[in-house]
Amino acid sequence: MVFERVAIIGLGLLGGSIGLAVQEFLPGTATTGFDTDAETRARADERKLVARVCETAAEAVRDADLVIFCVPVGAMAAAAAPVAAALKPGALVSDVGSSKQSVARTLSEALPGAAVIPAHPVAGTENSGPDAGFAALFRKRWCIITPPDDADPAQLAALSAFWEALGAKVEVMTADHHDLVLAVTSHLPHLIAYTIVGTASDLEEVTRSEVIKYSAGGFRDFTRIAASDPTMWRDVFLSNREAVLEMLQRFTEDLTALQRAIRDRDGQALFDQFTRTRAIRRSIIEEGQDDARPDFGRSDHNGG
Ligand code: NAP
Repeated sequence: MVFERVAIIGLGLLGGSIGLAVQEFLPGTATTGFDTDAETRARADERKLVARVCETAAEAVRDADLVIFCVPVGAMAAAAAPVAAALKPGALVSDVGSSKQSVARTLSEALPGAAVIPAHPVAGTENSGPDAGFAALFRKRWCIITPPDDADPAQLAALSAFWEALGAKVEVMTADHHDLVLAVTSHLPHLIAYTIVGTASDLEEVTRSEVIKYSAGGFRDFTRIAASDPTMWRDVFLSNREAVLEMLQRFTEDLTALQRAIRDRDGQALFDQFTRTRAIRRSIIEEGQDDARPDFGRSDHNGG
């Protein structure tokens, strides 16, 4: 089973990248797309993010055998409702949302009777919108597919093959496990970055210009994450609430332990913790998930 026509709803970073990647790596596949924003549709047409940008979502999905929702998690219901009556019988519905349990529920409720197999390509940048997408976004990145128990094995295999054709490595897991794993690897780090950048900018004793001037001391790397799209991340925290709160509780306990070590002048505890975390960084580089260069691949490294 191979998808001959793919419809993409939401033509921002993820939707645009999928459209470009399909046209490059699966040139025999027809692509259509829709976005609620007229300016985004015009820009998507100029950049040829999909072969045909449609004026309505129903028109985009009419002949598609794979429909991928690439809108913020909180917009999934509103994006799915207009296509319910237009879906081709037998079409597979998927998405790229960063949390999976709530999206699976939302899409199944909005599209009764449709086959839904959610997915999450763990690939992105801090940029959003129709100018942000590029065909190589998924190359060597993981795409986690979270099929419901009753998913059709042929459709699951076809969706896996689709993502592999776009350059991704595919992993299959349950939606609740996905939400727990991503809470600690993605959602909590974003929450910490948003917090620390907010704290620094609210300080009165240290000026804003000093924070910016000396940012290479570590702060700069948090600011990249804290520049991520506010709508997307608001929706991620609201939709993966339980798992994020669970991980946040554990993080708070670990932070308190480090606070105690500093107060008690327990250098050994600090040294042991930092040694353990350094090994994790090495594993990430060994698995090709980041750049080994000390400047993260930046050409203008100026301190750290
Ligand atoms: P994005 O660049 O902001 O693109 C989303 C697009 O969807 C926007 O153009 C938005 O238009 C449009 N949209 C909103 N509601 C819609 C609707 N009802 N119907 C059609 N289009 C609609 O966001 P993104 O970064 O691509 O994120 C999309 C999804 O991918 C999210 O669910 C996110 O969790 C997931 N994801 C993101 C990343 C990442 O790093 N960014 C990584 C993996 C997965 P408006 O701007 O006018 O609202």
